[in-house]
Amino acid sequence: MDKNKLYIIAVDGPAGAGKSTVCSDVAKKLGILHLDTGATYRTFALGLIKKGIDASDSDAIKNILNDINISIEFENNTQIMYLDGVNVNGMIRTNEVSAAASACAVIPEVRLKMVDLQRQTAQKISMIVDGRDICTYVFPDAPYKFYITADVSERAKRRAAQLAEKGIVSDIEQLEKEIAARDHNDMNRKMAPLRIADDAVLIDTTHMTQKEVVDKVLSYIKL
Ligand code: C5P
Repeated sequence: MDKNKLYIIAVDGPAGAGKSTVCSDVAKKLGILHLDTGATYRTFALGLIKKGIDASDSDAIKNILNDINISIEFENNTQIMYLDGVNVNGMIRTNEVSAAASACAVIPEVRLKMVDLQRQTAQKISMIVDGRDICTYVFPDAPYKFYITADVSERAKRRAAQLAEKGIVSDIEQLEKEIAARDHNDMNRKMAPLRIADDAVLIDTTHMTQKEVVDKVLSYIKL
């Protein structure tokens, strides 16, 4: 592949499979940017919460779709999400936002708005893009495609460890239920559900370290 040519590495997979950390490591190694598309749904969900709108109320959401202004900037290679001009990176990782993002992501009008933003963002520079529908819908022509997953119990354990680092004690069974509910929403929605693209490389990370996953992804990239 021509080194100067723009390219996209598309990565899909369920919640908590470690896609984001793997993608940011791969991006650093290749000197490209990492676009986390989940952050766009999270920012939209935060906009709904701020307006007091239920994330599953599709009629109300369709009416205010254009009143929620989201933009993405990269500062020092880090993705910054702006909601109505305000940096909200520190506000979109709560459980409340996770649940609302998963709920509003089933609404086709919300997806079209987010996909538009994602496609525009990845136009000017090579990127590794992670999400749920990147290989199958957002960038179906990407030259590299991966599906990164892990058992639900392993994903709950990893999430609990992340929370423990922040001093938050969590109930693993409860986390497992929340993750399974998000999987269900993602895999069963009508528009662009989460599935393994026919031409994606499947990586089950249940028994792999982060470094092993990064090396495996890199081993497929021929520039
Ligand atoms: O990846 P993350 O957990 O941050 O994504 C938040 C939510 O956004 C997911 O639970 C999923 O429902 C939704 N999402 C999506 N399509 C994407 C990325 C995320 O539906 N490409």
